[in-house]
Formats: sequence, C-alpha cells, structure tokens
Amino acid sequence: MNKMEIVVDKTMEEAYQTYSLLNEEVARWQNERGSYWTEELNPAETAPYYPLVDFPERVIIELWKRLNRVIGVLVPESVLRGTWSEFIAGKPVADPELVSCLQITVSGIAHLFNASGPDLDKYEGTGCPICGESAALSLLTPPYGKRRLHCTLCRHEWSMTSVGCIRCGSGDASEQNYLTSGEFPGIEVVACEACGQYFKELDLRLLSAATDYIWEDVRTLPLNYAAEQWLAEHAKVYGKVQ
Ligand SMILES: [Zn+2]
Ligand SMILES: [Zn+2]
Repeated sequence: MNKMEIVVDKTMEEAYQTYSLLNEEVARWQNERGSYWTEELNPAETAPYYPLVDFPERVIIELWKRLNRVIGVLVPESVLRGTWSEFIAGKPVADPELVSCLQITVSGIAHLFNASGPDLDKYEGTGCPICGESAALSLLTPPYGKRRLHCTLCRHEWSMTSVGCIRCGSGDASEQNYLTSGEFPGIEVVACEACGQYFKELDLRLLSAATDYIWEDVRTLPLNYAAEQWLAEHAKVYGKVQ
C-alpha cells in the first residue's frame, strides 16, 4: 500500500456548512414537490430506469434555482439551461459555484426517483440500475466485509459478490492498486491498471454508522488527485493511453 501526505484544507468546515444548508433545501423541495415529479416521470422498462439524460429540464431548473438562491448565486435561467445541456452532453462546467449546486440538484432529483423506483434485489451489474451513472463507491459492510455498491448520484445501493475493479470488472488482483492516507482511516482509493479508472472503497467496519457517503466522497477529494496522478505515471511507464 502507498501512503500519502495530505494537507486538509481549512475551508472544509465552511464547505460542510454550505453542503448541509443545500441538503436541507433539497429535503424541503422533495417534501413539497416530490409527489408531483414522481408522477410526471415513468421508469424505463429496463435498467437504468431513470437515466440522467432523460431528466426533464424543468425539474432540473426548478431545484437548481432554489439551491442557487440558498447560497446567494443569481444566474439567469437561460444560463442554467445552457449549462445543463452542456453537462448532459458530457462537457465540463467551468463555474465551480454552478457545478456544486448542479451536482446536488441532480442527486436530489435522482434520489427522489430512486425512492419510487422498482425493486432490484437481484441486480449485479457495475453501472447504477436506477440512474445509469458509474459514480459508485464500494462499501465493505460489517461484520464480514461483504461488498455493496453505493451510487453517489441517486444513493441506490446494491450488492456485488465479485472482487476486483467495480468499473471494468477485472478480477485480477495484481491490476488493482490501493492508495491510502493516514488522514482518512477506513477509506482507500483503488486505481485499476486494467481500465485506467479508479474508485473509492469505504470500510464500514472502521467508519461511524452515521457516515454520509456523499460527503465522505467530497471530503476525500485528495485521494482522487492521488489516483489520477498514480494512473498518469503508470500509463507513462506501461505506455498505455488513458
Ligand atoms: Zn444511481
Ligand atoms: Zn478496472
């Protein structure tokens, strides 16, 4: 295992306050508007049932505007619409304030649809069966470390019996590289040489029961940078193209 030196940003506390405020607003919106929107949208016939690209623009704009208001960001609706179409086209969004509210908007809506989604007890794939994103975290659950996947977008959870990479399914242990930091006990980032992607693994036997996975993912962003750097260096060594 590789240990890293990580300096935790002092603005983390502030970021957490904002994150909490935005989540409170999402919960209020879900209470007020949840039943309306779950009636508006029908699930697809096969997984993923509520793919992101099919979210109506109206629902995105409605919640996004509310969240922007909470943090005092005033952006014309036309800008929001343009940013949303770029986002679903896979283009990077440059404005960091718009991005953070958009991510919380998307997950607030996905979570709402997830709650009304079909029962998927037997699903075993790597992409999220509800929203279709590959934004999953791997969780090792007590008491024996049984693996579950948790979608950070819609918070759907499903079990995965296979070991190895949750992105490409490679089970070859020699291709998985675990990076850890003393700053984040119980959390590792796994960089996969087979596919050049990475994911985080949270050992719930070592973390508190009240862990907010999405916040853990944000808080441990330095691990993402470490994995990206690691993969870039190894791509050079092996001459792989990322
Ligand atoms: Zn999902
Ligand atoms: Zn992989």
